Order: sequence, then C-alpha cells, then structure tokens
Amino acid sequence: MSSRDTANVLWFDDLHRKDVNLVGGKSSSLGEMTSSMNVPVPYGYATTARAYRYFMNATGLNDKVNALLEGIKDYEDSDELHETCEKIRNMIVGAKMPDDLADDIKEGYAQLADKVGQANPFVAIRSSATAEDLPNASFAGQQESYLNIRGEDDVVDRVQQCYSSLFTDRATYYRHKQNFPHEKVALSAAVQMIVFSKASGIMFSVNVANGDASKIVIDSIYGLGEYIVLGKVTPNHFVVDKQSMKIVEKNVVKQTIELVRDANGGTKEEPVPDELQEKQVLTDDQVIELAGYAKEIERHYGCYMDMEFALDKNTDRLWIVQARPETVWSQKKKKADAAKEEDADTVDASDAKVLVRGLPASPGMASGVVHVIDNPEDIDQFKKGEILVTLMTSPDWVPAMKKAAAIVTNNGGMTCHAAIVSREMQIPCIVGTKSKKVAATDVLKTGDVITVDATNGIVYEGKVDSIVKKDNNSAQGGQVVAAETFAPTATGVMMNLGDPDLAEKYSTLPADGIGLMREEFLWTTFIHEHPLYLIEQGHPEKVIDMLADGISKVARAMAPRPVVLRLSDFKSSEYRNLKGGEKYEPHEPADLLGWRGASRYYDPKYIEAFKLELGAVKKVRNEFGLKNLNVMIPFVRTVDEAKKVTDIMRNEGLVRNEDFKVYMMAEIPSNIILADKFNQYVDGYSIGSNDLAMLILGCDRNNDTVAHLFDERNLAVKRAIKHLIKAAHKDGKTVSICGQAPSEYPDFTNFLIQCGIDYVSVNPDMVKATKRNVAHFEQRIMLDKATGRGLQDPTDYDWE
Ligand code: PEP
Ligand code: MG
Repeated sequence: MSSRDTANVLWFDDLHRKDVNLVGGKSSSLGEMTSSMNVPVPYGYATTARAYRYFMNATGLNDKVNALLEGIKDYEDSDELHETCEKIRNMIVGAKMPDDLADDIKEGYAQLADKVGQANPFVAIRSSATAEDLPNASFAGQQESYLNIRGEDDVVDRVQQCYSSLFTDRATYYRHKQNFPHEKVALSAAVQMIVFSKASGIMFSVNVANGDASKIVIDSIYGLGEYIVLGKVTPNHFVVDKQSMKIVEKNVVKQTIELVRDANGGTKEEPVPDELQEKQVLTDDQVIELAGYAKEIERHYGCYMDMEFALDKNTDRLWIVQARPETVWSQKKKKADAAKEEDADTVDASDAKVLVRGLPASPGMASGVVHVIDNPEDIDQFKKGEILVTLMTSPDWVPAMKKAAAIVTNNGGMTCHAAIVSREMQIPCIVGTKSKKVAATDVLKTGDVITVDATNGIVYEGKVDSIVKKDNNSAQGGQVVAAETFAPTATGVMMNLGDPDLAEKYSTLPADGIGLMREEFLWTTFIHEHPLYLIEQGHPEKVIDMLADGISKVARAMAPRPVVLRLSDFKSSEYRNLKGGEKYEPHEPADLLGWRGASRYYDPKYIEAFKLELGAVKKVRNEFGLKNLNVMIPFVRTVDEAKKVTDIMRNEGLVRNEDFKVYMMAEIPSNIILADKFNQYVDGYSIGSNDLAMLILGCDRNNDTVAHLFDERNLAVKRAIKHLIKAAHKDGKTVSICGQAPSEYPDFTNFLIQCGIDYVSVNPDMVKATKRNVAHFEQRIMLDKATGRGLQDPTDYDWE
C-alpha cells in the first residue's frame, strides 16, 4: 500500500484524475490541472475517503449510525426518516475528531497559509462524495460548499459538517432504495484558497453558438459568476482564434450591477462603480491569457471543455476554478464521427421490425439511442440527442426532456405531462405503450438504436432512414417559415406556449397571440424551488424576478399580440418536487382532483406565494411596460372561488379594465352549468378540454387503461361547450379553447366555429394548419348560408 492510500490529506499537486476513489471527482479534477498542467488553480488540498472512514471508525460512529439506520421501521415515513437522519448528522458534527486527523487537516491549513503568504487565510471548503465500485457517485450525498472559512478550528468543524451531509434525508433514502450499503460511501472535502473575485466568468474551448472548433469563447462579468448563469447581467463576450491567438470578436455591454462576497459570509448585490460600467471587464491581455489556458486544458483532456475562471481583486491574477468536458458540441461531434459507422446499421423501411406501439402524442420522427430512466434521481444522466424511455415524466424532468430526440412512455394518455410538454417543444413523443399490450420499458433497453414514428405511434428496431428523411422533408418538420401568407380569419387562432426559450422562434408563426402560457414551465425550467421555501429563506423577490423574466420574454417576443398567462396550476405531487417542497405539500391520493388552481390562491397556506405570482404580473405590465399581458385563473370550482380570487387580485392592484383582461379556464362541469353566474367575475373563458373531458366522462386523463374512453368529441362534452359559448356571449364574454382537442382533431375546430367560438389556441406545430382550416371552415359556413345548401350536421348539440 502506498503512502497515498493511507494519507488523511493529499495536496492537489499529488492528485490526478484517476484518483476519484481517493478523493472524489471534484478534487481529483482540480488535482489533475494542478499537477499535470500549466494552469493556475487556487492552491488546496483534499481530505481523503480514507480519512472519512478513519473518522467514522475511530469515533465509534460507524456502528452507531448503522444501529440507528437499522432501527428505521419505514423509510417511506418521512418524519421517522428525518428524525433519524437529523440524529446522525448531529452525532457526526458533535463528535470529537481524532487528534491525528485533526492535526493533519490543521497542518494542511498552515501550509496553505504559507503558500499564499497570509496568516489565517480565507478558504472555501467543498465536499465531494465517493462510492466504492460505482463510477457515478452523484447519488451518494449532498454536495455542500462553505465559503469564507477562516482559522484552523473552523476548517476542522466544516470538514465534519461536510461529512454529515452524507446523511441528508434524501441521500439516505436513496441509498436505501438502491440497496447500497451506507459504509460504502465516503466523503472528501477540498480545502482551497478563496479567490476574491473582481471579475469572473466562463469559457468554452469551442464556439458554443455554432460549434466552430477553431475558436474559444469567453464571457466575463464583474463580481461573482452566478449572475451569468442567472442571466442577470449581459457579459462581455470575446471570441479568440485558437490558431492566431487573436481576439476576433468582442461585444462589451454596460454592466450596472454585480454580485459580491459579503464580509459576513454569503453574497450581496452592489452597483458597479460608474467609471467601470462601460469598460471592458477583462483587458485584452487577460483574455488572451485565459484563451491560452483553455487551449492547454482542451489539449490535455482531448475534448471540448467548459471552464470557469476568476480574477482576484488583490493580486489581479487569473485563476481557473473549474473545468469539465463540454457536452452539447462534443456530443454532436461524436455523433458526426459515428454517423458513418451508423449508416452501416440503417434498416430498410420494408424490413423494419415493430417493437412497440402507443398513442401518438406529439407528431414527428426521430431515430437514436435509447436511454431508459427508471428512477427520477437518474434524470441528470440523460444526454442530449438520446431517446428518453420511461414510465412517465414529471414537471421537474422538463430540462432533460428538452434534450431528447424523442420520448416514449409506458403510461399516460393524450393529455398527460409527457404529451403536453413534448408537443410544446415539438419533440416526437409516444405515450401509453402499456395500453397497446407491450410496455416500452419491457422491450427497449439503454443503448438500443431505434426509430420513433410518433405520427403513427410506432417504434421500430434500428435506424429506419427513409422514415426519418421523409419527416425532415415534410411540411410538418417544425421549420418556421415567415414568408408564407395566410388569409385573415374571423375566429382568432392563438398558440399554446409556456417555454420562454421558444418564444422568439415561434413568434414568426401566424398566431394572433398566446392563448395559454402555462406558468408551470417557468417553475420547472428556471426557478426549481418551491415559492413557500423561497419565502422562508428570505428570498421572495427571487420568485417575482424570475417569473417576470420568463413572462416578459414571451410577452416581448409576441408584442403587440396578447399573451394570456395562466397562473400556477401545479398539483401537490408536482410542487413537492420543487426544492423545499416536501414541507409544504400534502400527500394527496388523487391530486388532479386536489389542492390545485384557484383553491390554493386564497388559502392562508399559499396566499403569500400567490401574491408573488401577481407581483410578477405587475412587474411585467408596469415596470417592463408590456401591457399585452393578461391572466387566466385555472381550476375554479365554485363561483365563490372566482369571487375570492378576483378580490385578492383587486386588492393587489390588478383590476380588470380595457387593457387588462382576466380570464378563467372553463374546465370543470360547474363552470359550464353556472357560466351565467361566473360571467360577472371575468372577461372570458378558455375551455380546458383536457380536464373538462376528464370530469364530464369520469375518465382520469393520465390513466392509460381508460385512454380509449377519453374523447373530447363525445356529445356530452360538445353540448357543454355549446352551452358555455351561448351563456358567455349573452353577457359579452369571450370564449377560447386551449385544451388539446383542436390540435388533435381538426374537425373539432369546425364544430367550435359552428358554435361561435371566438378563439382557438393550438400547439405551435398546428398553428399554420389551423389558420388554414379556420379560413376554410369559415368560408364554408358563409357559402352554405348563401346557397342554403350544404351538409346538415345530424348531431343535436343543443342543451337547454
Ligand atoms: C386543459 O385542462 O385542457 C388545459 C389546457 O389545462 P392543463 O392541460 O394544463 O390542465
Ligand atoms: Mg386543465
């Protein structure tokens, strides 16, 4: 056994990327750059996995922890789990570290002080978990980080706190579920000189805008780098040519705010001094110096790299603080390299073998490599361009779903989560394969090459080139062409769109506005944290700012056309998945029928969060001046609820008027039956045919077993719709529809027009077709009226 294997502490100079088992991924990668490359990495050392085990054994904690864990009767009982884990964490933090280990850590700190030439320097302490026998230890424990730590005793204390973070409720639960013994995980803490960032940023050794491998791109802002990630500040952008090492492109935009480290720990926002605001954040020389490091790091790792850097305000030195392989363009390159080989595997359409069938939830074709995700915890392993195969998706999967070439699920009907999201993002998607006898996850295995024909709901074995090419050439291929012309229509054609990243692209479609912007997309894509948790953390402004940011992107892209933002309509199981949600969300047996929509807004438990949603609307309308934003209230069960919610809105300063409309989803039978009573509280309705069909037919929209009975064209649903339009029009209220029905059944749009609907709101891929269909249907009605002929619809829709 070498001395490295028995060391409690190893310096970055002695570490290499192969040392993941000794010190975890983070420290071994910082070590690789320090020991084997000519790049400046802030000095530091790591406590080893061995040191953690020694601590746990010498203090007797290992046995005590095991005994406590064995005592857990029910891991599903979150109170019991929490109580035990808290006890374990307190025991670890409170234990006395063996003297020789504490001395090694303190000795490391003293040497670090010598190296930086300061007594008691500030350090950052970061934890990284390691797990024996497993290359991917990300599940093993929480990744704690402590900044601004100073003094040897504090350093030892924080290392112990890092150790305790292996026993968060979530990590413990997950190891149990995986049958992974707790003794097999260990924790390494990296103790590293802190950089007091005057400026910081990110760089890539490939131009991420277009994949040009001959360029390095560098983005830099004043202060800490978080504001780049959050998009709060537009960074200076530099492009450097790798060959000539010259700056070939430069974009310097004024920066007025920066995030800086607070002397008392934490961070705070400050204005950038006036004289610096319009100045280049980095000098040209610094840009070139960074580009040199980027080149060196890429050469060493042999792939495109994604790196973070910081410029120290005391020394004016540049430091590389993180380097990891870049994924998007590396993946594309790999794909292009593999394409020639793959071509040999191409299957002829006539020989293609059908593997699975399901419901065609979002049209399109794609072929690629299957990645089966059984456990939500593994979703971050999903890579761009793969085909996602799973039981069912949930809102916190959206960022991963965006990367999928196609999606295939076992469960769900045409209005389930996977169906709605993939249609919005125009990703081919097949749901409910189980309902067609063979479940996708029984047949499709990670690594298989398949072709998904989501227009017809069929999955083929191998790469069936003719199918994929046919789709790429077809008019439905998702390309947005602005030059086509469309006849004006009396019935407005709107679009359903919630993802702000797509707003610019789809704004060129001939839609008359956004008929449904689901707020849930903003939570799952940008915010990720539960609103009540953010309030508890003292950051309510984060909700307002991030919501307003996302909403304004859509409103700005569409202006002057109207945008209808639907206020939050998460179910409790979905809210629970947001960070911190566990504490606030009830466990409901059927949450589609539970605490959702309007019923939350006036509830004392949620009202403060609702006010933040309204705050974001006010910010977009009043501060950003985007008056094309209107709102919609979902899932209003009673007339009293409509009153309560609109009262709160009024008290918050959101009053209906000529240029601010408040709509209501018509998606519960009571909305239809009592439309004459609801009318006084709203400007109009949008029919949620997904929930409405579910509730009229008593047919769970997410249950594939009854998917064949779920049909919005049922006479009961049609009668309800006709009645609503009549009742609404009597009081001058408009009616739209934003459920899936008109996107799925073009003929349904004909029925709606016959009933006098004012708008139809469809998925982006159906906007053009619907615009054409509506023009056609309207002409037909006029022609029939003029000639007195035309087909009589035999169905009796009237219901009085
Ligand atoms: C509906 O119910 O038809 C609707 C559009 O809302 P969601 O699918 O988000 O419930
Ligand atoms: Mg609904």
